[in-house]
Amino acid sequence: MEKQAVERARTAFLTRRSRPLEFRAQQLKALQRMITEKERDIAAALKLDLNKSQFDSALFELVGLESEIQLALEKLLEWAAPRPAEKTLLTLLDEVYVQPEPLGVVLIIGAWNYPFALVIQPLIGAIAAGNAAVIKPSEVSEHTARLLEELLPQYIDRDLYPVVNGGVPETHELLMQRFDHVFYTGNCAVGKLVMEAAARHLTPVTLELGGKSPCYIDKDCDLSIVCRRITWGKFVNCGQTCIAPDYVLCDQSIQGRVVEGIRRTLLEFYGDDPKTSPDYGRMINQRHFKRVTALLEGETVALGGESDEADLFIAPTVLTDVPPHSRLMQEEIFGPVLPLVSVGSVDEAIRFINLREKPLALYLIKRMIAETSSGGVIANDMLLHYSISSLPFGGVGKSGIGSYHGKHSFERLSHQRACLIRSLTLEGMNKARYPPQEASKLRV
Ligand code: NAD
Repeated sequence: MEKQAVERARTAFLTRRSRPLEFRAQQLKALQRMITEKERDIAAALKLDLNKSQFDSALFELVGLESEIQLALEKLLEWAAPRPAEKTLLTLLDEVYVQPEPLGVVLIIGAWNYPFALVIQPLIGAIAAGNAAVIKPSEVSEHTARLLEELLPQYIDRDLYPVVNGGVPETHELLMQRFDHVFYTGNCAVGKLVMEAAARHLTPVTLELGGKSPCYIDKDCDLSIVCRRITWGKFVNCGQTCIAPDYVLCDQSIQGRVVEGIRRTLLEFYGDDPKTSPDYGRMINQRHFKRVTALLEGETVALGGESDEADLFIAPTVLTDVPPHSRLMQEEIFGPVLPLVSVGSVDEAIRFINLREKPLALYLIKRMIAETSSGGVIANDMLLHYSISSLPFGGVGKSGIGSYHGKHSFERLSHQRACLIRSLTLEGMNKARYPPQEASKLRV
């Protein structure tokens, strides 16, 4: 089944029908139509999988896709055009250019936390670049996975872009096949397996991974604004966002005010009982529920801390005075738990960040940018860099390999082919490179 899907995509790719720009535009428009016509079904699946509100489904999963499609439609001609390259004296009479060309068949493996967007976003790039793509949604978000399998063949070419559903054995089987690119979103451990499998075929990979994204709050900032933005970035989707601030670094003297600012914002966002708020999400499953609640053991709870396993509910939780060596600080939290860790100065915060793996996102004040490294960075806000198509989205070091969105997706999933069309004139000038070898020729 997995093998057949790949063969089907490969055969369809070899017909060359994914290449003409009109075809790519038509498929992108069909994808756009699917999002518009099936918005309710998509939101319903996301509600079942993650208790995502209709508002968050639109804002975090669909609006961005629509603007990415729109951008690709507007820019396709420009992105796909040959780019003249600089000439030398030797190539003055030649054509020298770079021609983007499709890679072939791309495998897209999605994650469950934004299960619709994380599959469709790379698919937009794959289609725009003229590729075929085999799509493997996360089995963990099963309702969205089933919906994708049902909807995509109704709108876009079913042979070029087949959907394969399944868990580890099916993904493993897929990874045994030869692809021209593997685009994986998920955790680091599986990222290594994906890269290993791809290496057997020398297939390039994009790995969109995660990690602990730090957030630094400066003593001198406007705490009411900062706390509102952090509360939004941390607790949306019940903390299950790859670029959510994982923990906060701040001076001990402002911890109390930070807690108070977050408490007030939580009240504003979700009322006094987040469990009954239609805007507050749930943990994806029991495994992740247990993992996150176990992280709370032995920590000082300043806000929240309540949970209900039957409902997969964990209250928005803030922990204070968290020691840097606690278990909570060794792994990505990926849930609605925000530890506050004390640092005495900006320089200490920079050292703290630099002693750890390079994160996917980093939230801090502008002067710290030059002294740190991360996939992306925002001063004074949360998450928004993800939605800006002109910015490459991706990790560095352990947070990932390669970036995408907008033109970056097109380039990531294209080969930049070096093209040289030589002139047949002036053959006399070429004599120097032909045998017989004579020392005098080298001096000419
Ligand atoms: P997941 O469990 O949905 O796994 C991701 C994919 O890997 C799924 O399609 C799954 O079928 C496949 N998979 C799982 N185990 C496998 C195995 N042994 N062999 C082959 N394939 C396997 O998602 P997850 O990994 O729990 O996702 C959460 C992680 O993803 C977090 O670390 C988060 O930060 C990261 N993430 C990153 C981004 C990003 O854009 N950088 C976005 C979302 C999530």
